[in-house]
Amino acid sequence: MMASCENCGKSLVSPLACESCGSIFLPAEDVDYFEALGIKREYSLCKDEIEDRQRKLGMLLHPDFAMKKTPFEQRIAQRSSALVNDAATTLKDDLERAKYLLSLYDDEVLQASKETFGGFLAEMLDRREELGELRFSAAEAKPAGHEKSKEFQLALEKMETWATSEAQRIRIELESLFEKLHLNPSSAELKDLIARQIRSWSYIESFNHEIMATRRTIG
Ligand SMILES: [Zn+2]
Repeated sequence: MMASCENCGKSLVSPLACESCGSIFLPAEDVDYFEALGIKREYSLCKDEIEDRQRKLGMLLHPDFAMKKTPFEQRIAQRSSALVNDAATTLKDDLERAKYLLSLYDDEVLQASKETFGGFLAEMLDRREELGELRFSAAEAKPAGHEKSKEFQLALEKMETWATSEAQRIRIELESLFEKLHLNPSSAELKDLIARQIRSWSYIESFNHEIMATRRTIG
């Protein structure tokens, strides 16, 4: 339910500030990132919407604007401004948003489950091995002065393409899993599946970092 502004009576999109009259409010301690920004609590969000909300609230909470306020309001504005930025940073990142949203349903499942998917893990290990071999042969080729750099770059690009498409696949899976969880918020099975997808995605992220590190040694 949307609360209304105690000063002007208009409904509040975010509990942090009123966009009609500019009043600043102290939010509840447990306000979550979605509430703070005033957006729906769902995984499939539009990033433009987050940025739009961040910009609007950022303006209301900006020190220049809050200058005309009481010192107490200025302190609230400063704190809320940090909250808005943290919220936007987390929610704009597809993986971080998944972790955060899952934690709102259940703050233990991600730590509790160490599982991913067997098929995915096997493929991930293969790719890691491939990357390890590539790094090894690149190091071998260097002192010998071989012009193999292009071949290595192509191999790295192929791995990057694979990682990107895996992340994309997981994001789509997560969208559908979170939709189901929204309708069935106590399902342990759904939470476990989401935790596994998040774990798989974390593997992809660290693989991407390895690719970048390899690119630097080869380049
Ligand atoms: Zn108002």
